[in-house]
This record gives sequence, structure tokens and C-alpha cells, in this order.
Amino acid sequence: MTLVTSTIGYPRIGEKREWKKALESHWNGEISHTELTRQMKQLRLSFIKKQRDAGIDLVPVGDFSMYDHVLDATILFGLEPERFQDIPSDKKLFAVARGTDKLPAAEMTKWFNTNYHYIVPELTDKSKPQLQHNNLLEWFLEAKEELGIHTKPVLVGPVTLLSLSKGEFDRQKLLDELLAEYGKCLKELTDAGATYIQLDEPVLALDTDEQLMNDIRKSYTVLKEYAPKAFLWLQTYFGSVSEADHLYQLPVNVIGLDAVDGEQQLLKQLKSKHFPDDKKLALGIINGRNVWKSDDERVENIIQTVLELVDQSNVILQPSCSLLHVPVSVKNESALDLSITDKLAFADEKLAELKRFALFGWSESRVNVRKKATAPVLNVPDSRVPYKERVKAQQHFNLPLFPVTTIGSFPQSKELRRKRREWKRGYLTDDGFRGYIKEQIEKWIRLQEELKLDVLVHGEFERNDMVEYFGEKLEGMAFTSNGWVQSYGSRCVKPPLIHDDIWWEEPMTVEETVFAQSLTDKPVKGMLTGPVTIAKWSFVREDCPLGYVFNQLAHAIRQEVLSLEKAGVKMIQVDEPAIREGLPLKKKEQLDYIQMAVKAFKIATSSVQPSTQIHTHMCYSSFEDSMPMISQMDADVISIEFSRSHGDLLTAFSDHAYQKGIGPGVYDIHSPRIPEVEEMTAQLHKALSVLPAELIWVNPDCGLKTRSGHEVLLALENMVLAAEQIRSEA
Ligand code: GLN
Ligand code: ZN
Repeated sequence: MTLVTSTIGYPRIGEKREWKKALESHWNGEISHTELTRQMKQLRLSFIKKQRDAGIDLVPVGDFSMYDHVLDATILFGLEPERFQDIPSDKKLFAVARGTDKLPAAEMTKWFNTNYHYIVPELTDKSKPQLQHNNLLEWFLEAKEELGIHTKPVLVGPVTLLSLSKGEFDRQKLLDELLAEYGKCLKELTDAGATYIQLDEPVLALDTDEQLMNDIRKSYTVLKEYAPKAFLWLQTYFGSVSEADHLYQLPVNVIGLDAVDGEQQLLKQLKSKHFPDDKKLALGIINGRNVWKSDDERVENIIQTVLELVDQSNVILQPSCSLLHVPVSVKNESALDLSITDKLAFADEKLAELKRFALFGWSESRVNVRKKATAPVLNVPDSRVPYKERVKAQQHFNLPLFPVTTIGSFPQSKELRRKRREWKRGYLTDDGFRGYIKEQIEKWIRLQEELKLDVLVHGEFERNDMVEYFGEKLEGMAFTSNGWVQSYGSRCVKPPLIHDDIWWEEPMTVEETVFAQSLTDKPVKGMLTGPVTIAKWSFVREDCPLGYVFNQLAHAIRQEVLSLEKAGVKMIQVDEPAIREGLPLKKKEQLDYIQMAVKAFKIATSSVQPSTQIHTHMCYSSFEDSMPMISQMDADVISIEFSRSHGDLLTAFSDHAYQKGIGPGVYDIHSPRIPEVEEMTAQLHKALSVLPAELIWVNPDCGLKTRSGHEVLLALENMVLAAEQIRSEA
């Protein structure tokens, strides 16, 4: 007896990022749309075949996309923003995703708490869902005809699609209309022979309210009426469903639940309420979001427990979510240490694991039993003297009102990137590269002085990436050569692996910072990446609690902070742009995370003298729910994104009576446009309306590494003028 296996989704980028290359060569005009379509079809079919060859019984179609699956669903139902409605259908997808000469692209944002970005549907009262050319049907038939494989069509569910949409619309009216069109789509599929149809409703992993549960109930009841032959498969992921038993009454055939994130909750639910005998449980047993082999013991225990509660014929094994979030295959990682590759399972290896668990091939393979790690317990201060006292101790900086500074990085020119490549390949010596970096630092220190900035930075030229740079220098982190995952569009990222205890070996940033400081009398701010951001943008180990990883990284960054201080650097910025991203989806789980994250930041920053000024930087966050975190972090100065104006942001600060330094980014660095002085003074006036002048700093809203030198100089010149203007009014 074996269990049925399934996948929720598979990476679309290809083992060698063929998908990315195809897309980009089409966008560059190197290959035609026909050729792109041909290559995409080939990839799509090869992924289906690969999964079937690995022994997966229920392989999806519709998870593959030429850009983003949320956008696919939006277009499938004719819901793209009105401005794109006249674009021919073969050009529509990329027009919405990337914009055209005349039309701005649709917004994108993070897919729940992953690093994948989807295109946000924009709906209005005029939006009218209408089923367009049914791609899903085409892909279903294609797999059947060309491979003889009966696949499981997959689509974002109607409730999730609406919940992720922005704009003003009548939700109930639109839901009803949308359901009719989903119904048509499903019916076309079942008429063509489809059986299982998976609808993804990850919104169920958020805090759900009655309204949402009603929408779910209505949707699946109605869909079953529209497409009575469909075997509806309601799929959730990214956490437990608060009231999973509410799903038991729905007229669906399969309920897919996450048994990794929210494992305890799921087992409790299954024990407390009998899982309906007329349904199947798709058990998300293998972590689809991390890169490590499963802990056999854990998986076996869960399967055993579940099999005592649910009939074996009703259990389907699958990953906890789409494998979109992990790289394709470990087989291309020959450069990594064997002791690390031994522990890894990317998408393809996870397929093999799944099959192994389904075959009950357990005892002989019980190799991956996890050893438990322990975090170093060091007794270090995690709070500083009160802010008021620090302010006095920090008067030695002699800063003007509205001090002007930047977030850390300056443009990474073509030449710089070429030099870095040459150095990495061994064509340029260490000294040669270091000398070049110093030239850049010197050049930009001079420019910052000429611009009359008050607090200078060295520019981060030696860093390719703010996490990779530290990861390469810390013990316990490693880098893959091919571990790419899709981030947005064709853009892929290669997150580092935190595979072992983290140790600080030697100073990582002191040389460059001290060199920069030696060139000027103005204070130079040292730049570090914070512990939470390093963890969040890496694949973290699973053999210890996340808090251990945070603490270990925090201790390492603390050593770096102290090394900088000892070397005479008196202002140190510890960036935490990702701290908000880590916030759990459910409110009741957030407190723990906040405590952990804040503690890590404080371990990293609290051992310095009162006279040393600690800065931090966060990119755009929803400040409403980040405020408790920001206050507790207790940085002397925080810089935040503000320019892509979220009005609530400053209210959040004033509501919380925030009384420490704040640099509300006065212009958007994501755009090449040079901001006018007036725009920036307007932003500063806004800040002044809720915050005392003594607290306000003037800075862009993020690092400048992606901009050109020319843009940066003009923008900063205007920014300094804006600060002078505001000072003259004060
Ligand atoms: N110090 C970093 C920089 O300026 C911060 C980047 C970020 O916020 N993502 O590039
Ligand atoms: Zn930023």
C-alpha cells in the first residue's frame, strides 16, 4: 500500500534558468513571440514530465506562468486594469507586468510572507469579470495529448484573488460575477475530462473573519453547482487554517492543508474533529519553502498520527506549498562542501522524498534525523542608557538641525561591476581590487563634502549585495552556484544558506569605514546589515529554532559594531529592511516574532557607548504594525521609506509619541526622476506637522546603488537645498 502523491506547483525557472533567458531575449527583441511561446511550451511540458517520472501521481498545470500566476488569473478573467484593455492579447501579459512606453505597469507586492512578488490586481466598480481564452484548458489538453499525462489544473481561488486586489469595488457583487466565470472555466475543464481542479486559497492562512469564511462557503458551494463534475480541491498554505473544520462541510473533494507551518495546530484539529470520510486530505508534509532534507522522524510521526485519524485511501502526500520558492536541483551544486550538499533537498530532491514517504520506505532511510543545535548564551547588554542621556552624550557630533545624510550605498557603476568580476575570476589581485574600492570611496567622500552633506558614508562599493557580503565573511553561511529562485518577473535571487552555527571571525567592514573617516572631518556612518535581515534573506537551518539563528547572527554583528566603535567610528547604522517581512501572517503569532527580532537588534547594537549613535534603516513597511517593533529597537535614528507616500506612516509615529531621530525618506530612489526641491520641502513640512524639528533627519528613502552617478548628484544637490530651505524657516 502506498499513498497518493501530489505537488501544488513546481519552479518555473528551469534548471539553468532557461525560462529567464527566454523571457529576457524576447524582451530584448532577440526572439519572436512565436519562438518564446515554443520555448515556454517545451519547458512547461518538461516540468510535467519530470514530476511524473519522479513518481508524482497528481501533477499540476497552471502553476507554470510566463510571469506570475496571479496575473494569469487576472487576465484569464479579463480583469486587467482598464488602461490595458486595448492591448492585443499576445502582448497583454507583459504590458500589465512591465508597463509600455505610455502605460505604467501594474503594482507588484510580496506574495504573503515569501520573497515572491505577484502583480496586484486593480479592480474598480466597473470591473466586469469575463472568461477569456482558457489557457488552463489548453495546458490540460496539451499535457494529455503530448505526454499522455492527466494533470490537475491549478488556479488562484476566487476569494484569494479578490482579497489580494486593490481598489474600490463592491466585493459581494464582484465575487458573484467572478464565480460565474470561474464556474465556466471549471466546466470547460471537466467537459474536456479534467477531474481534480486545485483552487489555491492561501488567504485562509491569514487571520480569517466571518466575512471571509462566508465568502469561502459561498464560493465553493456555487462553484460545485456551476461545475458539478469537478473534483474540487481547496488548497491552503503558508500556515494553519484557524477554523479548518469549517472547510469540512464544503462540497469539495480534497482539502489541502499545510502540515509544516502550523503542524501542531493541524494535528490538534484533526484529533478534535473527525475529518470527513467523503473527502481527501492533501497533507503538505514536506517544507516547500526551505532547502533542507526533511527530518524523517518528524515526517513519519505526522504521517502515522494522521493515518490513525484519516483512512489511508483518503490521504495524499504533497509539499507544504508550491515548490516555486526553492531552487530546482542540488545536482548542480558540485562546488559546495559535501557536508552541506548532504543536507540539501531542492525541488527535485523533494519530489524523491515525497515518493519515498509515500512508499513507506522508511526504516532503511532514516538517515536524516536532526541533531539539535544550541545557541551560544553570552551575557551581553541588550539595552542602553535612556535616549535622553544618549542625546547629551552625542552632542559631540555638532549636527545642524535637519541633518542631511544618505542610506549607505552609492552607484555601482559598470566599471565597478567589471572590476569585481575580474577580481572574482582572479584577473585582478586582492590589492588591485581594494585599491580601486579606495579610489571610489575617496571620490565619493569628496563629492559628499562638496554637496555639503552632514553625515557621510563610504558608499558600500565593496559589496555586491548587503547579505551576501556579510555571509561570505561569517562562518556558518554558504553560497550555492545555482540555487536560484524567482523573486519577481524574470528576476531571480540566490539566497545564501545558513547551514551551521554563525561565528564572527574578523572585522568585515572596519578597513573601508576607517579609511573613509580618515579622509574627512565630517562623521562617517558605518554600515552593517542587521541579524534579522540576514536571516530573512537566507535559507535558514531548521534544526534549531529561528530565535537561535537570530541570536547567533546578532552576536556576530555585535562584534562588528564593537570593532567599528573601537576603531573610532562613532555612528553605526544596522540596516533591517527585512524585519517587517518576517512578521507572521497571524496576529497572535506576531508578538513572539517581534520579541525575537527586537532582541536580536538589541544584542547587536546595545553594547556601544552612549556617545556612539546607532542608526537603523527599514524600507517600506506597514508602519501601523511595525511601530511596536520600531519603538523597542531603540535606535537613536531610524530612516524609513516615506516618499511613496503612505500618509498613515507619520501618524503612526506621532500616535506612538515616537521621540527619537527619524529620517523620513524625502524622495523615491526607485525612479530615475530627479526630485524637485519643492517636493522634498513639502515632504519635510508633512513630517514637521507631526514630529518635533529636533528629531527630523533628511535623507533619500533607500540606498542609491541602483541609480547613476549623475542622477544621484542632482538629486542630492536638491535634497540639500530642501534641508537649507527648511532650516531657514525654523
Ligand atoms: N545600506 C543599504 C544601502 O544603502 C540599505 C539597502 C536596503 O535598505 N535594502 O544599499
Ligand atoms: Zn531601503
